[in-house]
Amino acid sequence: MKQFVFLATWFLLCTKIIAQNLVTYFEQSQYKRTPRYDSTIWFCKQLAQKCHFIHYTTIGKSHEGRDIPLLIAATRKEFTPLKAHKSGKNIVLIQACIHPGEPDGKDAILLFFRDLLTKPHLKELLNNNIILFIPILNVDGHERFSPFNRINQNGPIEMGWRTNARNLNLNRDYIKAQSLEIQHWLKFFHLWKPHFFIDCHTTDGADYQYPITYALEVYGNMDKEVTYWQKNIFLQELHKRMDTSAYPIFRYVSFRNWYDFESGLSTWVTPPSLSQGYTALVNCPGLLIESHMLKDYKTRVLGTYEIIKQSLQILSNEKEALQKFAFNVTHSDSLHVAFSLTNDSTMVDFKGFEYAIRYSNLTKGKWFEYSNIPKVHKLPLFETFIPTKTINVPQFYIVPKAWASFFKHYFDLHDIKYIETDEEQEITAKFYSFSNVKLASTSYENCQRVLNFQVQTISRKVKFQKGSLLVSTNQPNYRILVHLIEPEAPASLFTFGFFNCIFEQKEYGETYVLEPLAQKMLEDETIKKQFEDYIHKNPNATSYEILNWFYNKSKYADEWLNVYPIGKIFTEK
Ligand SMILES: [Zn+2]
Repeated sequence: MKQFVFLATWFLLCTKIIAQNLVTYFEQSQYKRTPRYDSTIWFCKQLAQKCHFIHYTTIGKSHEGRDIPLLIAATRKEFTPLKAHKSGKNIVLIQACIHPGEPDGKDAILLFFRDLLTKPHLKELLNNNIILFIPILNVDGHERFSPFNRINQNGPIEMGWRTNARNLNLNRDYIKAQSLEIQHWLKFFHLWKPHFFIDCHTTDGADYQYPITYALEVYGNMDKEVTYWQKNIFLQELHKRMDTSAYPIFRYVSFRNWYDFESGLSTWVTPPSLSQGYTALVNCPGLLIESHMLKDYKTRVLGTYEIIKQSLQILSNEKEALQKFAFNVTHSDSLHVAFSLTNDSTMVDFKGFEYAIRYSNLTKGKWFEYSNIPKVHKLPLFETFIPTKTINVPQFYIVPKAWASFFKHYFDLHDIKYIETDEEQEITAKFYSFSNVKLASTSYENCQRVLNFQVQTISRKVKFQKGSLLVSTNQPNYRILVHLIEPEAPASLFTFGFFNCIFEQKEYGETYVLEPLAQKMLEDETIKKQFEDYIHKNPNATSYEILNWFYNKSKYADEWLNVYPIGKIFTEK
């Protein structure tokens, strides 16, 4: 009997400890703190230990060697991509702490996973959804922990830092993939091929009443059917549910003119260097959640919880429609890669606060002081875009041997298929030739970007060595391929400065050689006319620039100067 009493007491104690363990750190701290990395991993492992349908694993290691955690919730233990896709359920990828200073999504979904254990109505969401959850993507940045990392933000008491251990913003790294964290993410994403993606953040910016804002790519960079579904089915339903909850939502917007409220609200097409812009390239809808930084931490976390719960319910109901979209991209011979906002607008009610414009004695500039008096502002909302750059998509790209290993790395990360040529081949291809190139004067994300240029297409017959890469655009991820390679795509490797070496002139003529050569060349009427035109356009050209102009018109000029080495092959249809 004594033994029985002891065992019963021991059992009750254990249950209590288990229950205590499954109180999140966020709850224990009275909703004011977010757990550190070790504590987060411990909690994830506890969830997996105590629950048969939750699995803990990792997607790879960071630069500082930390595991990047992944939790999978799947009622029939569909813990592999193959089993998950066979199940017929939606695969929903949710990530938090790509910006660790904004940990709301981490605490919201840890709470949600804990609730899956105890609340049957939530567990029902797993009948149609498998959830992949990365609680901390930027694990190293997360451990640069301080109360002083987010000056505008109302809690938690301490939080991680925006960038990774190499000072890279991971949410600008989705195409160029310079960080290990995003390299792992890309492999993971293309292996699992999720149907829906959610990325959790916290805003900066103005004060307004909405605790949660959102963005979805509905402005022209996805297939029409996906855009329609996101706009007219998913978002309409999401608004209906959230606007009657304690957490009304609005689009994630900025002021048309910086700091000028009355100039109106504008949205944007997200470039694929950011997460939801990247998932758009494969038609995977990406919901960006931006909780509002001035709301208290509890409101933000619970608001994030609510929008994700509601999203999962909608996705459950929309299973059939949703699963047709992701990784099923319509091929086109022309692809819009850049967009610009038009002047079309609609008037909307925007729930803000009354504010006063103050003038600073210190800076002589103006600044905004928000009150806590709610006010509905009638403002123009600009959200209509037109394409400003359309690419003629070739049948093949050809990458010369010299750039093959560089591109193989990228093609493998982005799941792009290619073949290596097994013999030298002479191929006629189209190449881009640049002029008036302007490079950025400051570094951006470890790169010196190409800001402006003029470009023309030239045709050339080139000997491509054995081991060059032939890349067909007739493949599912061709939109990623185009965005990687095409210089005019906003996040291309070219735009990020990976080809700046082609703008460097390596040989020069001396004045005593070029002066007589120039005089001789001017005997040619065509050259003479071109020169007059050059002088007309460049009246202040120095004598060196003038002579160098002749050098670059001579037979000594480098034919590959300012020419992009990747060729485009258009075959007859
Ligand atoms: Zn963020």
